[in-house]
Formats: sequence, C-alpha cells, structure tokens
Amino acid sequence: MELKGKTAVVTGSNSGIGLGVARQLAAAGADVVMNSFTDRDEDHAMAAELAREFGVAARYVKADMSKSAECRVLIETAGACDILVNNAGIQHVAPVDEFPIAKWDAIIAINLSSAFHTTAAALPMMRAAGWGRVVNIASAHGLTASPYKSAYISAKHGVVGLSKTVALETAEDPITCNAICPGYVLTPLVEAQIPDQMKAHDMGRDQVVREVMLARQPSKEFATVEQIGGTTVFLCSDAAAQITGTTISVDGGWTAL
Ligand code: NAD
Repeated sequence: MELKGKTAVVTGSNSGIGLGVARQLAAAGADVVMNSFTDRDEDHAMAAELAREFGVAARYVKADMSKSAECRVLIETAGACDILVNNAGIQHVAPVDEFPIAKWDAIIAINLSSAFHTTAAALPMMRAAGWGRVVNIASAHGLTASPYKSAYISAKHGVVGLSKTVALETAEDPITCNAICPGYVLTPLVEAQIPDQMKAHDMGRDQVVREVMLARQPSKEFATVEQIGGTTVFLCSDAAAQITGTTISVDGGWTAL
C-alpha cells in the first residue's frame, strides 16, 4: 500500500474521472476526501462505500469549485492534503462570438481558477508535511484546440501553464506538480451520448465510436477512468519523484498527430 498514511483531496469526484481517480488512490492505500457542489445522501454514501471497499478513511465534503472561498475552505476542511487532484470541470460548446458570458466565467472559474485556489491553500500543508503531489486533470485540449470550445481550451491550456509554474516554485521542495492530458475518456456522460450520436449519424455503436466520437483518437479506443486513476497513482509514486512541471498524455495518440 504505497500511499498509506497520505490524504488525497480529489475535486469533482462524485462521478466520472474524479471518482475513478479517488478509487485508484484508495486502492493504493490513501485516505480520500471526495468533493462536488451537491450535498446528497448518495454523495456521502459513495465515500462510505470507498472506505468499506478499500479499508481507508474517506469522506465527502461539499464545496463549489466556482467559488474561490469554497475552494480554499475545502482544503482547510480536509485538514491534511498530501495529494491534490484538481479534476472538477464543465464544458460548453458555442462559437466564440456567441459564447454566453456566464458560461465563459463559469468554465474559467471551475476548470482553471479552482486549481489555483486549492493549490495555494494546499502547498503550505505539503511543505509542512515534507511531501506533496499536485495532479491536475487537464485534457488533450490543454495542448491542442478544436473549434467552439474557446473557454474549455483556454482553461485547460491555463491549467498546463499553472502546473509548470507551480512545479518551478516547488522544485526544491519534495513536491511535484504535473498535468494529465486525457483524450476521450469513457465516462457515464460520454456513454450517454452514444445512442444520440448513433441516431444522428444513422450508424451502429462501433461505427459511431470509431468514426465520429474517436475521429481524432488514433487508437480508436476510449481511455478509461481506471487508466487516468492509474496514471495519477504513478505520479504519486517514488518512481515519479523527479517528474514535475510536465504533461502526461493518455490520449491514444491524439496529440501525436
Ligand atoms: P463528469 O461530469 O463526470 O465529472 C465532472 C465532475 O466535476 C463531477 O463530479 C461534477 O460534480 C464536478 N463539478 C462540476 N462543477 C463543479 C463545481 N462547481 N464544484 C465542484 N465540483 C464540480 O466529467 P468527467 O469527464 O469525469 O470530467 C472530469 C475532468 O476530466 C474534467 O476536468 C474534464 O474536463 C476532464 N476531461 C474529461 C475528458 C473526457 O473525455 N471525459 C477528457 C479530457 C479531460
């Protein structure tokens, strides 16, 4: 249990990639603080289930990552933060000249500014503990662009820049900061889009996945939440102690094109 005794805070971890990352960190022995902006029984039940399944301490803390003060309160409430995974994120698709201002502001706040606030709050704890890992879930869209996703792409490029800057500021501390850049990952949200895409394109599942959804992913396979979780655990390992200020693509070759 390589991460036994470490506490991990994973933002946006009641579904999709965040939940997958929280599960892999718990499987590696870390205590986990899960988070989202809701406060439902099922959110707390998810943390209880994680604790039971992996024999770690796990709890759920409601905090809205669009609000700077709540980002910082999340870290304070966690009490310890050896591993910080900035994962919370949203998307909106529209041409730049029609992009709703409120959506732009929300995407920049949740996908980029929250990582600044949580990192700022966590670094003093990591320095005091003498060990720390910041893992930012960016995107292939942190390295490349696509039309109609101006806010998301700006935020994800920003996350890559933030990761490099934090890495330089912590370079002489036993702390690393990196960004994982996933391609298309099969989350419940993505799975739910498949039937509509099949209808819209009059194609079967395999064809719509290969030719429409994974048009830019050369492997023609989705990445999985387990693979993103496994990459996070690797970045927390001793083997990765000198990996800092960089990006790791988990994108089936997307950014090699
Ligand atoms: P998802 O919608 O399943 O997960 C997003 C998480 O963020 C959820 O837990 C949600 O509750 C949380 N969240 C949203 N707004 C929040 C807020 N204001 N405060 C706190 N939490 C909030 O989607 P996902 O695909 O698992 O995405 C997770 C991250 O991975 C995002 O940053 C996304 O940009 C990134 N990503 C996803 C893919 C993909 O193909 N699914 C690819 C590359 C990067």
